[in-house]
Amino acid sequence: MTQWLTGARDDPDERAHRLVAAALRAAYAWTVRHTRRDAMREVARMTGVVMEAHGPGHGPTTPLDLVACLRERLGLLPALAAGTDEAIAQVVLLDSDDRLTSDAYDLASEYALPVGGPSDAAQWMPSWTWMRADQIRSETFIALIEGNGQESYVASRRLLIEHPAGSRAELSDLISETGVRPPRRGYTDIPTDHLHRSSGGETWWWPCPACRWPMGVSGTTVRCRYRPHAAVYHLTEGRTATSRPTLRRIDEGPSMARPVARPAADSCCVEFGVWRFVVVPGASELRVQQRLENLGATVELWPELDRYDLHVQAGDKEFRIDLKEYRSPYRLIADLRAKAPSARVLLPKTHEHQLGILQTAMPSLQVTTETKFCTEVRRALRTV
Ligand SMILES: [Zn+2]
Repeated sequence: MTQWLTGARDDPDERAHRLVAAALRAAYAWTVRHTRRDAMREVARMTGVVMEAHGPGHGPTTPLDLVACLRERLGLLPALAAGTDEAIAQVVLLDSDDRLTSDAYDLASEYALPVGGPSDAAQWMPSWTWMRADQIRSETFIALIEGNGQESYVASRRLLIEHPAGSRAELSDLISETGVRPPRRGYTDIPTDHLHRSSGGETWWWPCPACRWPMGVSGTTVRCRYRPHAAVYHLTEGRTATSRPTLRRIDEGPSMARPVARPAADSCCVEFGVWRFVVVPGASELRVQQRLENLGATVELWPELDRYDLHVQAGDKEFRIDLKEYRSPYRLIADLRAKAPSARVLLPKTHEHQLGILQTAMPSLQVTTETKFCTEVRRALRTV
């Protein structure tokens, strides 16, 4: 058996990770089979990876068997049945219309990694279906760092996080006015399932109030693809066929400004992988920075060209902080075990519930929550 097929280490967690990655990739390829000639070849290749993970006599044995499994809970696959990651076992990747589900985008995308050896699929499959999240992050940051000092790096990364979507004219003005670097793959068209087409033919999108990337649109329901950005809206058509549609909040979360529809003609956004693994955590980093500065602390973003996330000075105390925002605590633990963090881990307010599981799995890890850390900073500022 060659190493690319079995992976470097063949423990059950590694095998389960590979299996989820292959299932996600097969599910994506299946959704584009009518437009991509080589999509079925990719589904077949991923069937090979899934078969290998199960061993002879278990699990799906043909591409169509695998596709049938993707319409059910992943936990029904024998190799995932005994896994500890209950959240991923509940995930269904394809809905009844054979479209990718929200969970596929939201949770399973954290499991993407290269599987099945070199292939041409990298040319046409989006990076988030086959690249590890940390690879997408480092590829983006290296491009921002190249030839630039710390100040310019921070400005470019900030621009990317604060403007993940907009009109082409507005974004190109911003880039030329500020002189910052645009993201490596630039901005691309807004995906069609993030747009609403009015009866008059106009298309519209809405920025998420938390991350500013276009929210997903499903019928008359509009919400961010990233579940912790929990605001959900009901869409109502404008009074005439060409007027602007409006949103009404239907969940019971804390109140926030209501997003206004923006015309999609001439609008663009960063690609999904950059949004999910750079913009989403970045929005929390900027929010926590602002909150600490409001308390009176001095905060430096991504010091020493991103050795860690935040350097915080409060009174005579200094803190080094790394925010960690994973949907799956199991993926977070696996990544922390593979690469020790270079600062204290902070769970932002949407992820504070993961503290217990993290402390149990890694008792020696330096970890805190946004709430606890703010209390610590307030105390440090009072003792000055
Ligand atoms: Zn969002």
